[in-house]
Amino acid sequence: MLEIISLILGPVETNSYLVADTQTNDAVVIDPAWDGQVIAAEAQHRGWRITAIWLTHAHFDHIAGAAGIAQQVRPAPPVALHPGDLPLWEAQGGAPFFGMRIDPGPRPSISLSHAQLLHLGAYTFEVRHAPGHTPGHVVFFCSGEKLVFCGDVIFMSGIGRTDLPGGSYKALMNSIQTQILTLPDDTRLLSGHGPETTVGQERLENPFLY
Ligand SMILES: [Zn+2]
Ligand SMILES: [Zn+2]
Repeated sequence: MLEIISLILGPVETNSYLVADTQTNDAVVIDPAWDGQVIAAEAQHRGWRITAIWLTHAHFDHIAGAAGIAQQVRPAPPVALHPGDLPLWEAQGGAPFFGMRIDPGPRPSISLSHAQLLHLGAYTFEVRHAPGHTPGHVVFFCSGEKLVFCGDVIFMSGIGRTDLPGGSYKALMNSIQTQILTLPDDTRLLSGHGPETTVGQERLENPFLY
């Protein structure tokens, strides 16, 4: 079974997802927002081994927990990021812009690209490049389970902001049209902030898509 634990962490209430194949006990962390020790302890408590950290994008509120995970988990899990967000990662995810400092943790060693397939136990996730909120934003789509970890591309009744450095409203709308709204209506959307929704619900009700 694919089990998903959602943890709301950090100063802007970011959703971190601890995702595991409960047959193999392999787990990944998608967007370790903050408090890496808390995420690592959650995995340990369940007997899961964190084998990788997948980043939807490099904003500080999605990466600041990676350092804590790397301290707790041996061997330290590799970090996956699209190269388009590496400059943002190197700039502490923009934290200084908000008057903060963070330790971004281990340098990403898995370079994500569009259409790449990632494996978690028996489950396969497709990487879809969805720029606009940031240049190297990706979403992780599991067609077998009909779900997408969509980061800050789209939220329940909202879309990602595009006013930060590297943002593009035009690119974001194009990404939503081509990478999200092309999926079946019953596909679950697990966003970087706020509650879970579905492609069909946002297609009908999201006020930013008209
Ligand atoms: Zn963001
Ligand atoms: Zn965010």
